[in-house]
Amino acid sequence: MGVGLRIPDYIAHVEAPERLIVFGRALACVVLLVMLGFGSAVNQLTAPCVAGGVLFVAWTLVWALWVRQGARDLTNKLGWTVVVDSVALALLSANTPVPGDPYYAWYAAEAVLFALSLKRQQAWLFGAMLAGSHAVGQVFRGNVDGGPSYVFLLVSSASLIAIGYFVATVLSDVEKRQNKIETQRAEVEALNARLERSMNELRAVTQVTELIHSTLELDTIGPTLLSILEKVIDIPTASLTVIDKDKQETLFSTSSVRPGVSRSYSGYDLTGVTAPESTGAFACIELVDHETTSVIFCADEAAVATLGAEDRVVLQAVASELVVAVENARLYRLTKRLAITDELTDLYNYRHLQQRLDDEIHRAERYGKRLSFLMLDIDNFKRVNDVHGHRVGDQVLASVGQVLKTTVREVDIVARYGGEEFSVILPETDAPGAFIAAEKIREAISLYRFRDADGEPVIHVTVSIGLASFPIHATGKESLLRAADDALYHAKTTGKDRVRAPRLRLHRPAPGDAPTERMAE
Ligand code: GH3
Ligand code: MG
Ligand code: MG
Repeated sequence: MGVGLRIPDYIAHVEAPERLIVFGRALACVVLLVMLGFGSAVNQLTAPCVAGGVLFVAWTLVWALWVRQGARDLTNKLGWTVVVDSVALALLSANTPVPGDPYYAWYAAEAVLFALSLKRQQAWLFGAMLAGSHAVGQVFRGNVDGGPSYVFLLVSSASLIAIGYFVATVLSDVEKRQNKIETQRAEVEALNARLERSMNELRAVTQVTELIHSTLELDTIGPTLLSILEKVIDIPTASLTVIDKDKQETLFSTSSVRPGVSRSYSGYDLTGVTAPESTGAFACIELVDHETTSVIFCADEAAVATLGAEDRVVLQAVASELVVAVENARLYRLTKRLAITDELTDLYNYRHLQQRLDDEIHRAERYGKRLSFLMLDIDNFKRVNDVHGHRVGDQVLASVGQVLKTTVREVDIVARYGGEEFSVILPETDAPGAFIAAEKIREAISLYRFRDADGEPVIHVTVSIGLASFPIHATGKESLLRAADDALYHAKTTGKDRVRAPRLRLHRPAPGDAPTERMAE
């Protein structure tokens, strides 16, 4: 386990160049004090030499104070420092009675240090100040070793300027290159982020497209659709509504917000679509505006305001797919309805009747329930056609269907068996109950006056009804149909306009009945 050296806060907040300078100056002060205090210079100290040392040490303390107070503007500090140091170093080197310039290394170090700190091409100015100080110090140093060599002085002074200039220039170039690399990296990262986002959007749109085209029952997909969308557009609560503009009705609606007060958008009712209760603010945008269909997206007002262009593109893509899916679902429902409906009477057709009869008999069998079946035939219908024409005959058939539907219970299944024959399945109804229902139908039709070609309610028709009940008259579908048919025949042969049930209590199973049913008999 390493022992962590905690840097005090007043140092930790100092920027790197300033820390370097304080450290450099402190080191230089120690060296200076050693030079002034010991060695050969001890006995030959002059007043200006001491003044230079004092200036230097004092300025070091000022630097430390600046740094501690967190004073800004490094260039300004450096400028003053070079001025003070130039004076101090000139005083020191002019009054040091040793050959050469013992402070030259110091000048050079300072030129490097300031160039490192400034990192600008103007650093040659600091170099020039230090060079000037060096030159003055040498010129006024006196005749220690036969006076200064001016050529050498020129070279050493120019070197100081060059050091400042080159170090700063190189560093500045490196920094520029680093900045450029940094900028390029940031650009690449931004591009990557955008690419990632685009991929996510594409994935989400694909997922939504697959989802909405995977089923024709759109009611179930709402929550999944919104949760996929939430992953790309950062809106936690939202709703999507597809509206039929002609009929002013909602074709599809899904919402991840709690249902509450009903609201509207452009006159359309958006019941159940509310903003989160926390804000209450609610905003809607129209994503698709087709001739007959409109898709509206609603969410918290602030969230809608922050939707970016890319978010809107995603929403619009999803909305367009949704419109197609809603239309497909509508066509599917229509086709499904047409497949089981008789066109003339709008009742169930023969095929659907067979299917429902199978289902109801199985259910009755499984749960030990009863079930009755009525077979109706309009009496003397040929005459209606002959007297009033086929068109009126058709209208009478349609009206008989409506009378039938309104006379029986909601759960009863009314179908056109074919021609002028109708059937009714009466679930959970025994024979006496079925007889009552059949009588009600017979009476209702007999009392009804159907319209003739002139629209006058003058046509009177009656029906004969045969009833059969499961399981007392039959043990399967085929035998039930046959029993009802026999009873109808009986009603016809005994005077029409009446209801008849089978005379036998139990019929023989028909060839089409299920094996288990035959065994039961
Ligand atoms: P019954 O009392 O014995 O049933 O006499 P009916 O005339 O009703 O019996 P029949 O079965 O001989 O004739 C049925 C008639 O129903 C024949 C046909 O003209 C008419 N019909 C069957 N389907 C339609 C239809 O879709 N439209 C019209 N207008 N008439 C139909
Ligand atoms: Mg008939
Ligand atoms: Mg008939």
